[in-house]
Amino acid sequence: MAPLAIHHPFPYLHPVTARAPWIDGHGRVMRDLRVSVTDRCNFRCLYCLPETEEAAQFYRTKFAPISTSGLSTTLREPIWKPRSEILSFDEIERIVRLAVEHGIEKIRVTGGEPMLRRGLVDLIARLSAIPGVRDLAMTTNGFYFGDKAEALRQAGLQRISFSLDSLDPSNFKRMTGRDGLADVLSSIEKAQACGFAPVKVNAVVIRGLNDHEIPDLARFARSHRLTFRYIEFMPLDSGHVWQRDLVVPGREILSRLQSEFDLVPISNATNPSETARRWSFADGVGEIGIIAPVTEPFCGHCNRLRITADGKIRTCLFSVVEHDLKAWMRGGADDTELAAGMRRVVLGKELGHRIGKADFTQPARSMSCIGG
Ligand code: SAM
Ligand code: SF4
Repeated sequence: MAPLAIHHPFPYLHPVTARAPWIDGHGRVMRDLRVSVTDRCNFRCLYCLPETEEAAQFYRTKFAPISTSGLSTTLREPIWKPRSEILSFDEIERIVRLAVEHGIEKIRVTGGEPMLRRGLVDLIARLSAIPGVRDLAMTTNGFYFGDKAEALRQAGLQRISFSLDSLDPSNFKRMTGRDGLADVLSSIEKAQACGFAPVKVNAVVIRGLNDHEIPDLARFARSHRLTFRYIEFMPLDSGHVWQRDLVVPGREILSRLQSEFDLVPISNATNPSETARRWSFADGVGEIGIIAPVTEPFCGHCNRLRITADGKIRTCLFSVVEHDLKAWMRGGADDTELAAGMRRVVLGKELGHRIGKADFTQPARSMSCIGG
């Protein structure tokens, strides 16, 4: 006799561990958790940690009206959190397990630069073993990824995204503060060789810096079978020197691509929380996407939460309030209390960001601390 069909109230949850999912005050069900495993980074990207003389020079000369008070903050060395303030692997595993029990399906490990976290391969193995983690991904600048590609794959990492803003070695150095293009390209190749497919690559586009490379980056992606994403520059830099003039709007990126390529839109109907508007090429080779959070916000479908390396929950990239999960954990909260706390935090998730509005306040911490 055929087994009886059991209609579980939350069919998308793991049957053994299922609890009511975390739903925010606007009805959005949380599915995606970004976990920052370190605030440290070996790069100094101009849009994230612009703490090099070259970055300061760019901001100084390119757009005259920038305030000098902002610039002075770009030239300090970043201050990393002491190790004791960073979540341990046990704490990260506990949070991910609880999150998955409450409806989270996708985990993205990020930073800072996640490859700098000692024991990362072990952490990935621990996270991939949690029942209900459907999708385990990581974002990296790629510099140190190559040597660990195979081990990470074996440990259960399913997807990898690289950041690559320029194909010109000197422009790459200008944008990232490091002479690392060859290392990143070799890591991308290694990722493909050990079976990550498709490999995703992201570029932040900044006017006057790498916008002239938009078509070349697409050609590169096509010839290397990469899924490519162009990202608008967001006000999340440590120097607080972001300016709207530096943002190349998604529509402009698209029209520059359309002047060289025949693009066919790909529908996001099956995944409305997808951040990118996507296109394939008419000849069937390659896919590009444009992530335009500044000019075309997609907050209405946002189902993401973030945990910072020092254990704060953030309900939006642009949250100005963080909630101290680490303090609850280290204060002795049990799983029920912790999950109830997280549920309360999720309820207050912002409807959307306020970029461009008179009351917009840039978060105090940069993307490298928040976890992109
Ligand atoms: N270090 C890793 C890397 O760069 O891929 C992971 C962390 S990084 C903060 C995650 C993503 O955030 C990267 O794709 C990076 O390009 C993006 N990012 C950082 N600052 C940004 C900004 N101000 N605007 C848009 N994207 C930004
Ligand atoms: Fe580091 Fe990534 Fe920020 Fe660049 S974007 S400075 S690689 S954390």
